[in-house]
Amino acid sequence: MAKDKNNLAQDELFWQAVKERDRSFDGKFYFAVATTGIYCRPSCAGRLPLRKNVRFFVTREDAERAGFRACLRCRPADVAAADPALTRIQEVCDYIRSHAQEALSLTMLAERAGLSRFHFQRAFKKIVGLSPKQFLDAHRLQSFRQELRKQPSVTDAIYEAGFGSSSRVYERVDTRLGMTPAEYRAAGKDVTISYVCVDSVLGRMMIGATDRGLCFVQFGESDEELLQLLRAEYAAARIEPMQEPFPEEFVNWMTALRQHLDGQQPRLDLPIDVRATAFQMKVWHYLQSIPYGSVESYAEVAAGVGQPGAARAVARACSQNRVALAIPCHRVIRGTGELGGYRWGLERKRVLIDLERRSASRH
Ligand SMILES: [Zn+2]
Repeated sequence: MAKDKNNLAQDELFWQAVKERDRSFDGKFYFAVATTGIYCRPSCAGRLPLRKNVRFFVTREDAERAGFRACLRCRPADVAAADPALTRIQEVCDYIRSHAQEALSLTMLAERAGLSRFHFQRAFKKIVGLSPKQFLDAHRLQSFRQELRKQPSVTDAIYEAGFGSSSRVYERVDTRLGMTPAEYRAAGKDVTISYVCVDSVLGRMMIGATDRGLCFVQFGESDEELLQLLRAEYAAARIEPMQEPFPEEFVNWMTALRQHLDGQQPRLDLPIDVRATAFQMKVWHYLQSIPYGSVESYAEVAAGVGQPGAARAVARACSQNRVALAIPCHRVIRGTGELGGYRWGLERKRVLIDLERRSASRH
């Protein structure tokens, strides 16, 4: 009789801990839910079960022997391994998530965890699998993306379709590319480039093309400035204004670019004729696989082309892009969610990302 009373009191204490998701009880007991067949640790963030369906166990073995399976969300087995840093690190993760927009220093986070900087960094990496900095970056990037697609977009559709990651999309999407680096001679020797300048939402836009494809789409303040740029990029080429009537193909390319900038044509599929190193080629090709209305970080692109750690080189390749829009380097941002750089100015990058976000939600 006395024993039953003790059990009742203990159950009441345990139930209180479950209701409060009290972490200090993690590892001291487990609760199981008869209706789901699952057992959890007291702090599980899942929905609070009905009291009448709950049973308590002091060990995991007891719960399992009674036929319950471990919850995939709170993973009671991990607590059993009893890493004293676990709870603290989890609390720091929660803190980072809710304060991601603030400047967070390693020292400050380590203090919150009650660990030295060194031990904090080591424990964090061991438990989370990322360094605190990487975790913060990943979280910020994710939030930024959520901002970008408040509405269902192309990206959502791709994820819905089960691709999972954009690097896998990259393997599947067959982008048509007219890049022919091997045949292309240095600085455009023996090549004729025709150009026109048009107005666009991003200011004056110059479109230059060979007879094989676009080799120059850039923005500037004046036609003279753009022409200088074109000459600098292709010093050995014969450069001339496009003569009217424009060739039909060129008109099609121009129309596509304009409609793209109006948000009418999300996917640009234009032949491109530029000289590139093997690495630039890989990066630019990859950029074309980033869905309209979506962004990736320099580090993600680096990983996507199979060279993790080459984020700087990716940023350089982006800044060397000569064919804006058709090679959408504006879809690459910093891991922190900041815009990073853009060859034609951050304002234009902002306008483009914004435009895509708005149009993507309509398509
Ligand atoms: Zn759980």
